[in-house]
Amino acid sequence: MSNSAQSNPLLQSHQFPPFAQITPADIVPAFDRLLSDARQQLEQLLDNPPDGWALIETLETLSDRINQAWSPVSHMNSVANSEALRQAYNAVLPKLTQYYTELGQNERLHRAYQQLAASPGFADLDQSQQTLVSHELRDFHLSGIDLPAAQRSRYGELKQRLSALCSRFSENVLDASNAWSKQLDSAEALSGLPESALAAARQAAEEKQQSGYRLTLDFPSYAAVMTYADDRALRREVYEAFVTRASDQGPGAGQWDNSALIDEILALRHELAQLLGFANYAEYSLATKMASSTDQVLDFLSDLARQSLPMAQQEFIELTEFARQIQGPDTLSAWDVGYYGEKLRQQRYALSQEELRPYFPITKVLPGLFGISSRLFGIDIQRQPAVDLWHADAQLYQISRAGEPIGYFYLDLYARAHKRGGAWMDECRVRRRLQDGSIQLPVAYLVCNFTPPLGDKPALLTHNEVTTLFHEFGHGLHQMLTRIDWAGVSGINGVAWDAVELPSQFLENWCWEPEALARMSGHYQSDEPLPQSMLDAMLAAKNFQAGMQMVRQIELSRFDFQLHCDYQPANGNQPATDVQALLSQIRSEISVVPVAACNRFQHSFSHIFAGGYAAGYYSYKWAEVLSADAFSRFEEQGVFDPEVGRSFLQEILERGGSREPMASFVAFRGREPSVEALLRHSGIVTAERVAP
Ligand SMILES: [Zn+2]
Repeated sequence: MSNSAQSNPLLQSHQFPPFAQITPADIVPAFDRLLSDARQQLEQLLDNPPDGWALIETLETLSDRINQAWSPVSHMNSVANSEALRQAYNAVLPKLTQYYTELGQNERLHRAYQQLAASPGFADLDQSQQTLVSHELRDFHLSGIDLPAAQRSRYGELKQRLSALCSRFSENVLDASNAWSKQLDSAEALSGLPESALAAARQAAEEKQQSGYRLTLDFPSYAAVMTYADDRALRREVYEAFVTRASDQGPGAGQWDNSALIDEILALRHELAQLLGFANYAEYSLATKMASSTDQVLDFLSDLARQSLPMAQQEFIELTEFARQIQGPDTLSAWDVGYYGEKLRQQRYALSQEELRPYFPITKVLPGLFGISSRLFGIDIQRQPAVDLWHADAQLYQISRAGEPIGYFYLDLYARAHKRGGAWMDECRVRRRLQDGSIQLPVAYLVCNFTPPLGDKPALLTHNEVTTLFHEFGHGLHQMLTRIDWAGVSGINGVAWDAVELPSQFLENWCWEPEALARMSGHYQSDEPLPQSMLDAMLAAKNFQAGMQMVRQIELSRFDFQLHCDYQPANGNQPATDVQALLSQIRSEISVVPVAACNRFQHSFSHIFAGGYAAGYYSYKWAEVLSADAFSRFEEQGVFDPEVGRSFLQEILERGGSREPMASFVAFRGREPSVEALLRHSGIVTAERVAP
């Protein structure tokens, strides 16, 4: 081993990744080395494959070494992006894709799995081990192992190209978001904005050595303008900048345009699906999901739309009438909906998100969240000293049970430049049994984009932000509380994508429980509890515009699913499916709010063009049925009932991907899921459901 390899932090073993020591120059050499070692070791292993389960243990050790090196690189690329890091990331991506394609098409490896599955010892393996082997065999098929050589190599090309296109898509969204800002000299132009948003805009200007106020397309800044700015022209300007990011429209038109990427991604996905014998990419996507057919998904979405559309239409009529009553425009435009919506909410419930903020300082919310998790699942959470983090905001925590550490997580809460928008949980380390018999503990990343702290105040969260934190923490618990020993089905690994949102949406329910709210709130200066009147108003306002929100999610789900299900490639004179036309068509059927002609939402829809949600965005609604129904057992037996908490822990969280999600759900709930709880929680009760 050369000296440079020895000093490369990505090649050393660490308990935690040495984020601060990773330099872009380390990355490519580290992966060249790791992948060539892994190829060599795999060949040696297959020359003389060990019997039984030992084969899987060795393979998991090989993969884990690569994952442990890649996870911090991929994470840093998302939260501390730079040109040099991006180049290194993109240089490694095709090498990894190539490596995994080779693994998925390795005939000797495939035979070794087949032999294990057919061996007499297979029956003695436990459920998690058997599930892992059956998933692997399924994935060999989905990697083209059964195809003739020419088609296999085409599969490899398609995977390569798709991973490059998706990475580029995400970069365009980040660059387009970073490129736009607006400097304003006086607060007058920002009339209507609450003090917290003004202070954030002032701080953003100072950070750029600008005077006055700086608006950006970071979500907290965008949302504040859309919700509060009295100046209609300003709202329009910010709306147009936001919804045209990375497109052929708006202030950055054509500069980071994702149009061609979208068309190529769809064409290649369609080709990939057909190569593997599926009619379309939606069918391919469902091969690893809980939903059993494309019709089942489409029927599910139509049914939800049918039940919620009348309420959404009524809500929009009320909003329009309200705007007229207070001398607003006769016809609402897209940039008016959030603004008048907030005014109506304030009038109807005497409550604004802004007034709640001082009662949700992060210094209360975080201990509250930890206390609730501890009461439900018998765990203890403590902050750990940590060096080598990627940013001063990042923190490390330990989860323990009965004094024994069982997992760790990193927390990175606030929006900033060069950090990808949104909120997510990702795997840093998977829990698995090492070959010496010891257990590698799981480590997760929890990333949000909340309003940063201002001056020396703690960060004050909106209730929406609190809910997002609970959501991501629910994913984190799934990842960290697992008791499964094998990486392939441990934590969220191997969990069908449309069931993966169950623990996350489930945990959000506690954000609406008075007893839980009391534990996570308190005025940041006086420590005064959330006043009863505000709590009542908050609970009363819970389902404000719930119909509109429901149809918006159904619109996105249907767009994604139909796009991948009905896609037609170009054929002779016939052009390929027109993405904008399909989106407009779906909007004309189920959207109740106006959309500007320049809107190119799809150009920043990273979930489906750069994330894992392609033909799978419906998963949010699908899993919400599961999570609402799971929570209804707590409603029946008590929201802090220790027995129900233990049952959820043991049947859902600890199981990971070790059995089918329906089996886990039934084990917890005692029956299959029903949509009743979701509709009830959303305040949607249709006439049809009231009358038998
Ligand atoms: Zn989620």
